[in-house]
This record gives sequence, C-alpha cells and structure tokens, in this order.
Amino acid sequence: MSFTNVLGQGQAKHIISQALSHSRLSHAYLFYGPESIGKKLLAVEFAKALNCLSPETDNACGTCDSCRKIDDRIHPDFFFLEPTKSTPAAREAYIKIDAIRELQKKLGFLPYQGKTKVAIIDQVEKMNAQACNAFLKTLEEPPSSTVLILITSNIYQLLPTLISRCQGIKFNPLPPEAIREILQSTGEETLDPTEVDLRVGRSKGQVARALSDEATETASYRSEMIGLIGQVSFKRMDLLFQWSKTMAKGGQPLSQILEEMLGLLRDLTFIKSGGSPDQLFNRDLMSELEPVARKKSLSHLLKMTEAVNQTQYALSGNANAQLALETMLLDFCEAA
Ligand SMILES: [Zn+2]
Repeated sequence: MSFTNVLGQGQAKHIISQALSHSRLSHAYLFYGPESIGKKLLAVEFAKALNCLSPETDNACGTCDSCRKIDDRIHPDFFFLEPTKSTPAAREAYIKIDAIRELQKKLGFLPYQGKTKVAIIDQVEKMNAQACNAFLKTLEEPPSSTVLILITSNIYQLLPTLISRCQGIKFNPLPPEAIREILQSTGEETLDPTEVDLRVGRSKGQVARALSDEATETASYRSEMIGLIGQVSFKRMDLLFQWSKTMAKGGQPLSQILEEMLGLLRDLTFIKSGGSPDQLFNRDLMSELEPVARKKSLSHLLKMTEAVNQTQYALSGNANAQLALETMLLDFCEAA
C-alpha cells in the first residue's frame, strides 16, 4: 500500500481510498492545512493510484512503469505546477497565466498513456488574478478523465469561487510519534534523544520545522527573550530599545523571532494554567520559564500575545522592523 508512505493523515487517506474504491471521484480536490505535513506526498500517491498498472486494493503498487514515471514526473498524463519566479532576482514566485494556458491545452487531450490525467497545482494561492480567472473556467467545465488536485497552506488567501468548486480535504499537523519517526529515520547525523524530544516538541507537527530546527543554536536568544519578557517595564526602557535595535539588525528573520516569542508566551501561559512540562515547546528552558510565569499574571501574558500577533500583522505590510518591535515592547509594558 503506497498510502502508507504518508505518515498520519488518516482521514484524508480514508476519503481518497473510499473515492477510489467506489469510483466516485471529484473532478477537483483542494488539499489544505499547515505546511510540510504530507499534502504534496499524498497528492502524488493519489495520482499513482489513479494510473497504476497493477493496483493493490485501490492503492498504487509503487513499482510499475506508470508509478515510476509519476515519481520521476515524466508521465505524459501527469502534470505538476508550482509558482516560479519570472527572473532569478525576483522576490516572489507566482503561477502565471501562461502556465495555466499551457496546462489547459494539455488537459484538452485524452489520456495518452494512463487512465486519468492528473494535475497537481502546488501553492495554488500564488496564482495571480489573471491566472486564477483563467483557471476558474477549467474548474467550471472540467475536461474529461481528469482529476485536479490543488494544494494550499493558506486557504484564507483563496477566492471563495475557487474553494466552492473543489472537494476540500483538510490535513492536520502530524502527531508527535510521526515526527519522531521521521527525525530518527532521515538526516545524515543521528540526533541524541534529548535533541529529538526537543525538536518533536517544537515542530508543531510540521516535518520541515522539525528537520531544520536548530534548537540548541537558538537556545541563547530564546533565553534572552525570556529575560526580556520578565523584566521589560516602563522603568527599564533601556532594555526595550537595546533589544529592538539588536534584533532588527541581527541575522534572524523577524518572522522567526516573533514566532519564537509567541512560542515562549504560549509556554508561560501554559505553565501559569498548570499544564504539564512535557507539553511545552521550549522544554529545554523550563527552569528559566518557571520563575517568569510565577511573576506574570495570566491577563498580562495574554495581552503580550496579542501585541505579538499585531506586530506579525504589521510586518506583513512592510513596516519598519525596529519601530514595530519597539511598539510591541511598549505594549508589553502597558499591559503590565
Ligand atoms: Zn503501479
């Protein structure tokens, strides 16, 4: 069973297996949920199952000519579309109208080698308006023998008309056991058990996060942030300005700093509410978190969380980084 290659996602797998075994396929699916939890992997397995030459109870064999060609992305009835940059220096990648027209042309033909043409469109929210309009026509009048699989980790950025024309399948963050299994089976170096525990706790069920997490390296600046949360007040404005300046100029991306700040505030709130230590994101810093949690009130912690959320929002609109961090910390002081 090739669906077993995909860890977790029992519900999504069940829906797809049922559709395959009853031959009741939708012409378009929308796989949505956080990044790096297996959406693309399952989409490819689905494409294989639809075209496998020797399927095993509604599942792809994984070894036939068709399965191998889909894995190598050279199957003539399998199309994979993702955002591309117009020039190497371009900041953002998009799915543009030319790519959609090209796909529409290919979908106009009957399957060449397989039974069903499958088109996977990854990061579908990156379609620009023109491309999206053109693509809506394909969704309205789907070509025969075709299954479209759209993938997004930002469903809120999609047009309602696009969402309503697809069968939505929700993907969930992976359970800790699955992340643990992946950490222990991939990667060149063997991680020591404490590091594995820590990464599992900090991953939020997302594989890429677990694999790239440099928890040990970020420990010092996370620890600095706990100190800051504990001490910042109108009496210690020096701390506020110093930290904002250092962070705005430092090497860590701001989105990551704010994400870590939210994780720490979440842990403090969690300790304050009597949660168990093994549920903490930053369990390596338990001894530093505890005294700060004792000192702060729950309402102060929640107001600080709100201030970080607002800063995340402001920064998505290109605000000045140092100013945004200073404003956030002023809100921290005010909340006290
Ligand atoms: Zn096969």
